[in-house]
Amino acid sequence: MEYFLTEDQLEMKEIARRIAEEKMRPVSEKYDEEAHFPWDIVEVMRQADLFAILIPEEYDGISGKVVDLAIVTEELCAVDVGIALAFGVTGLGMYPILIGGSEEQKRKYLPQIASGERLAAFALTEANAGSDAGAIETTARRDGDHYVINGTKQWISNGGEAEIYTVFAMTDRAKGARGASCFIVEKDTPGFSFGKKENKMGIRANSTRELIFEDCRIPAENIIGREGTGFITAMKVFDKSRPMVGAQAVGVARGAFETAIRYSQQRQQFGKPISSFQAVQFMLADMATQIEAARALVMQTARMVDAGIKGYAKESAMCKYYASDVAMKVTVDAVQILGGYGYMKEYPVEKMMRDAKILQIYEGTNQIQRGIVANALLKEYY
Ligand SMILES: Cc1cc2nc3c(=O)[nH]c(=O)nc-3n(C[C@H](O)[C@H](O)[C@H](O)COP(=O)(O)OP(=O)(O)OC[C@H]3O[C@@H](n4cnc5c(N)ncnc54)[C@H](O)[C@@H]3O)c2cc1C
Repeated sequence: MEYFLTEDQLEMKEIARRIAEEKMRPVSEKYDEEAHFPWDIVEVMRQADLFAILIPEEYDGISGKVVDLAIVTEELCAVDVGIALAFGVTGLGMYPILIGGSEEQKRKYLPQIASGERLAAFALTEANAGSDAGAIETTARRDGDHYVINGTKQWISNGGEAEIYTVFAMTDRAKGARGASCFIVEKDTPGFSFGKKENKMGIRANSTRELIFEDCRIPAENIIGREGTGFITAMKVFDKSRPMVGAQAVGVARGAFETAIRYSQQRQQFGKPISSFQAVQFMLADMATQIEAARALVMQTARMVDAGIKGYAKESAMCKYYASDVAMKVTVDAVQILGGYGYMKEYPVEKMMRDAKILQIYEGTNQIQRGIVANALLKEYY
């Protein structure tokens, strides 16, 4: 499908494609196996100015447009979602500052992210607060011109590697979700440490860690927005970031599809390529159609976000759950088309299948997304 990309967008796409093919593909299997954080690829991304695409021009970036991020994200994730997440999660961790931060906070932190000098992470989830984010137990107590943070965050992507963390904590527990606030915490702050690194099914090249806060004192000016606005910020962040999970999904689905269709043309059984069997052809047709539909939803939603339209929570949730369900189905079907070889690590599709699964879980599970869509629909048709 033609998306009428501009010259600049075609250039960004080509840069991302080359990084993915030339730098990420050769190390993809090894980094997955060793759960190795891809600092060398981060350096390549830095030099190619990829991080600047996350940030608007007024803060030393070159874009900040969700469409541009979707284009780049798809290219990177067509080869390796896990490696690409060092970039994607930095966008997620940065969004609270871009969306709710003061001018001073933006001027301080966004250029550091645009240059790729520092990675970011987003810390909401806790052991007892996943889908029910309002149940977070981490607290931030005001003490003069500081806040003192106590609590433990769980499963934080880029954890231990990023230097800038946007952390959600309760400033007034009695108010429930309305008592949450968001803070910027820098890596070397005393009282802030990292717990265990998770051993995961997929996206193994990204680190997923506990963040531990023990009487961690941060300057009061590190609060994002006012006290009590944490959840509003988190919801705005997700509305903007979920199309990006959609783009990750389109990428991994495309990577698996491309491997499957090439394989089907080479693999001979019964004296013919398996692509000559209608059962295989129909699978390929369905895979390509679903990817195209998911991409169209992601690109159109990204354009809505960039156009500054108010209220796109429904479309963002649709992108996230539809595209990630497509990614799961397409990667499973790709393994099927490769047969026994698909199950082996010498082909990339088993990894893509493992990587795809997280897309149905993080940034709000697909059940939660369906709930957001249904609620919006019921209000629209009231
Ligand atoms: C690899 C990885 C990386 C992550 N990275 C980050 C990160 O960087 N930052 C961060 O803050 N978090 C991160 N997370 C956390 C992630 O966002 C949560 O895992 C997710 O929101 C779901 O929460 P949970 O796992 O506690 O599941 P639960 O909330 O316990 O849900 C369990 C099941 O119950 C279902 N369920 C729960 N409530 C409802 C409901 N109301 N209606 C219908 N079904 C429901 C869910 O859909 C799910 O199927 C990460 C998680 C993983 C695994």
